Amino acid sequence: MNVLVTGGAGFIGSHFVRAMLAGRLPGLESASVTVIDKLTYAGNFANLGPVAHDKRLDFVPGDVAESALVDVVARGHDTIVHFAAEHGVVTNVLGTQVLLDAARRYGTARFIHISTDAVYGSIPTGAWTERSAVQPTTPYAATKASADLLALAAHRTHGLPVTILRPTTTYGINQHPEKLIPRLVTSLLTGGPAVLTGDGTHTRDWLHVHDLIQAVALAVTGGRPGEVYNIGGSLELTHRDLAGVLLDELDTGSDKVEHTPDRPGHDLRRAVDDSKIRQELGWRPRVEFTSGLATTVRWYRDNPGWWRPLRPS
Ligand code: NAD
Repeated sequence: MNVLVTGGAGFIGSHFVRAMLAGRLPGLESASVTVIDKLTYAGNFANLGPVAHDKRLDFVPGDVAESALVDVVARGHDTIVHFAAEHGVVTNVLGTQVLLDAARRYGTARFIHISTDAVYGSIPTGAWTERSAVQPTTPYAATKASADLLALAAHRTHGLPVTILRPTTTYGINQHPEKLIPRLVTSLLTGGPAVLTGDGTHTRDWLHVHDLIQAVALAVTGGRPGEVYNIGGSLELTHRDLAGVLLDELDTGSDKVEHTPDRPGHDLRRAVDDSKIRQELGWRPRVEFTSGLATTVRWYRDNPGWWRPLRPS
């Protein structure tokens, strides 16, 4: 199996590549991997450090929206796993279409498109199913929803074997410190406050990155083409409660929480029903939140050299 991974130097993509080359993803143990990554502020080749010299890894620094490059890179791959995303239409919409076109040209056998639960927007109670309409709140979520529609259209029109995954908010080591958990942890570790946007009642269902990459592997080996699979987390928590858990974990006083004005379009609650992937592919989250968070906090504590240069000074 030859797998092309886009965004493989980012948070989730690098976990996927490292686990695949370490033989920790069932069915993908003998895969060879090409990573294409533009190395934006969120991409870091050091994330691939442990496998950088593996002969089965090829790294191409480049943009998925550049069709001439993608045309050369995609050739010879039977599987594409598309993680690359950023804030903007070019990567998320145009880049996805460029990859879909290349996959069609080369008869790629599998195309896994990594979407997000943000495409559904906020839900006050209950959980979105895969049949729920996409109603993205933010421009970012709208670009992700657009990519999903392009991917599904490529399946319906041309029979392209695309499977879409919509995971909830994901955490783990090697995540850029602009994201909530690393932002709070690195601020507390440097003696700063835990700053929450708004009143802290925003709620997310936290998914550990190890659980997510197992779901991606299951989608590669058994996901049905043309289908969408939601991936839920292991614990739903308000940001305020999350900050409380982190203050305990880092043994910091509870007066360390500060609030700034909420940002526009901040979904109050996101939640998905993931019974489809549980029933069809036998997936379920296995990393318990408390231990996943403790491991994550410990890693940030032990690896300031990784995150210090990435934090605003
Ligand atoms: P990330 O920002 O850590 O990594 C994205 C990677 O894509 C980076 O390495 C970046 O350099 C690369 N990239 C960006 N634009 C590119 C381009 N034009 N060409 C090639 N490479 C490019 O993101 P992440 O958190 O790892 O997210 C990966 C995917 O998972 C995204 O599609 C995201 O929407 C989805 N997702 C993330 C979360 C989460 O909580 N992190 C939750 C749900 C879904």
